[in-house]
Amino acid sequence: MYEPDPVITCIDCGGRAHLNGHPPEEGWQPGMLTMYRCEDCLDGWYLEVPDWDDF
Ligand SMILES: [Zn+2]
Repeated sequence: MYEPDPVITCIDCGGRAHLNGHPPEEGWQPGMLTMYRCEDCLDGWYLEVPDWDDF
């Protein structure tokens, strides 16, 4: 099952952006949006769950 990274690097300021919220009960599916919040600039980032069949 796909697990998003709990922390990513903020695209704007290089700070730490933390995954927000809880995984959906049915698990992450391709095309779902994960939401990250940067602890430095407080910007929100939405990342689409990749289609892991491509890997
Ligand atoms: Zn930031």
